[in-house]
Order: sequence, then C-alpha cells, then structure tokens
Amino acid sequence: MVKDIIIDIVGNFADGKTTLVKAITSESTLRHSEEKKRGITIRLGYAHFNLYKCNSCGSFSRYNKCELCGSKGDLYYRVSIIDSPGHKTLMTIMLSGAVLVDGALLVIAANQKCPQAQTQEHVEALRIMGIKNIVVAQTKIDVVGKERAKESYNEIKEFLSKNGYENANIIPVFASQNINITRLIQEIGKFDITPDKNEKTEMVVVRSFDTNKPGTEIKALTGGVIGGGLKSGELAIGDDILVYPGVLVKNVWKPLKTKVKSIHSEFGVEKKAYRGLMVGIETDLDPSLSRRDSLAGSLVVKEDNMPQLKNRISIDYSQIPDKFNKPLQKGEVVLINVLASKVLGTIVSQIQNKVIINLGDTFLPYFPEDQAIISRKLNNVWTLAGAGKIYE
Ligand code: ZN
Repeated sequence: MVKDIIIDIVGNFADGKTTLVKAITSESTLRHSEEKKRGITIRLGYAHFNLYKCNSCGSFSRYNKCELCGSKGDLYYRVSIIDSPGHKTLMTIMLSGAVLVDGALLVIAANQKCPQAQTQEHVEALRIMGIKNIVVAQTKIDVVGKERAKESYNEIKEFLSKNGYENANIIPVFASQNINITRLIQEIGKFDITPDKNEKTEMVVVRSFDTNKPGTEIKALTGGVIGGGLKSGELAIGDDILVYPGVLVKNVWKPLKTKVKSIHSEFGVEKKAYRGLMVGIETDLDPSLSRRDSLAGSLVVKEDNMPQLKNRISIDYSQIPDKFNKPLQKGEVVLINVLASKVLGTIVSQIQNKVIINLGDTFLPYFPEDQAIISRKLNNVWTLAGAGKIYE
C-alpha cells in the first residue's frame, strides 16, 4: 500500500537547503515538469519525489531500480516537501503547515556553530507539534576541514539530545555532488507514520488563489482554489464542504458553502485528498474570494463536523523554559497559531498555566483540544513563548 507523507525541510538558505532539495528531487521534478506547467500545481510551490522500497535488499531509493543493489522496487511513499522559510520573522508561516507534517529534514551547515538561534526555534516548534521523525543533513562539509566537521557533528548531536531528539541520525552530505543523498533517503524511508485516529474531515488552508487570467468571461471562469492539506479524514470530488470562518454577513461570520470540483497534487490529478498529501482543491466559490491567499488560515470541514468559532479562547499552556524570565502577563499582546490560522490577541486573564485570550474582531475556527502556540515579542521579533491545548 503506497502512502503519502509530508516532510518539512528546515534550515537557512545559507545552509544549502535549496541545493539539497534539488539533489533529492531532481528526477521527479524533471518527469513532472510538463504537468506542473498547468496552472494549479505549480502555484502550490512544493517539491516532491517518489520513494521506492527494494524487493530484494529492502533499502529505499528514488527510482524503481534499487540505488544500492540494482533490483526492482515498489513505490512505497509519495513524499511532498514543504519548504519552511529560513527568515526568523517568517517562523509563524512554518507553524501554519506544521499540523500536516509527518517528519522533518533539518539542514545544518558544518561551517557555523550549532545551534543558530533560528534552528533552535524551529526544533522547539517541531517538538511542540509532536513531530517524532527527524533526520539531520549536515551540509558544507566540503568547505570545512576534518577537525571542524567532527566538532560540528558533536555540536549537532548535543543539540538534538537537549531537545529530545537523541535518536535522530546525522548524515553528512555533499549535495551538489550527490554524495550521501541515498543515505538520507534511507532515513526518510524509515520514518514511522501513525495515522490520525480522527476520521472527521479537517483541511487546513495554507494558500488560496484565483487561477483565471484577467478578463476571462464569467462563463469560462474557474472556481476559487484552496491549497493545503488534510489533518484528518478525506475529501472526494463532489463533496459538499464548509470553509470557516467564511465571510462577514451583517456583522456575523458565515462559513462559505461550496463543492469540491477537482483535486490536484504535485503528483497530478487526484480522486481523493487525505492526510499526507498537499493539494490544490478547485471549488465553485467565486474566484475573487480566494484571490491572493485571502482564504489562507481557513479551516475546511464537512457538515457533520462543525468547529467552534470564537474570539475568546482559553489555553492550558506550558512555557518554553530558559527563554523568558517572566510568565505571560495580563494585558500582554501575543500572537497565537492554531491549525493554519495566526491571530493577535490580548491576555485578559492569567492564572498559573491557564490563559484567556481576547482576539478582538477576529473569530478563530478550532476544535477543543487543538494545539495553540503562543509567541510574544522579544527584541521586536515574535518569539515562541509556549504552547498548549485550547480547552474552551
Ligand atoms: Zn536493493
């Protein structure tokens, strides 16, 4: 049974992330380049590759002919890669995709001391989101001496242990020469994917767009497209869906009711969407509603699974240790990430580990027990402060 998985690639441009993604995905990208030119999938902007398991030696390859022994293999995982932005202030964008992710590929350069502040923050976020599968690609080993490469390896090892990832493997790679990419692929093939027990459909919208060219006749218009992934459940062509929070009608938020018209992924046209696959879903919504990511952060459900929609939430949180000297304060403005939404709020009550946050005019769609991440400003930059479950 072929599975679909999503991995998050985390690291700086300076760490050689782009070169590494190219080295891993080159074959698939070439094969699908024609398909990708057709509108929807190209706008999702994810990278992808197929991962095969060898029938003879059991190792993993990017081709159906085993890269290690030459025998034939079967398709095992279809892997989508979400590229997390490297810039610190864009951290919250990475969090909007994190509920969809099955594992992470951490790119750490040997020529810099580990951890850099932003790597530290990314790994904290992965841990908070409960992501267990991690592999490290140690890059830039070609520009440092043997001594430094070893020192860097030890720094990474120590950093991983401190963050609860002592079992993660570190693979030194030389991406532009395709060295050790196969070893990295073995680690991704070994990722342990546990299915979500929740069978109700929950899709988080990371992007949204209008694929029509300006001046298209109304009759010929394609409906609005929402891009993202399913946290649980599934969607099929023809399904009726609700998009929360929707639109304001006479000062009340009304979810948008629409239908799934087509489903596209990096791998082509799909019949169904489910967890593990990044998809672009064409709806029959007026395309002006989905233009320029205007529905990003929305939550898509079916009628049997209505979320809460509130502008005041209560979170049972734990603070990230050693980072701030003082706990969250009443009156403090914080940034909250829930599913794919990010909203500003003011703390109206703080008693021990429970905070109540007022979101002003913003209504947040969520399910009780959803994970909320709280950031606060530190030296003018939003910095992870804590996380916990929404209980009300
Ligand atoms: Zn083999």
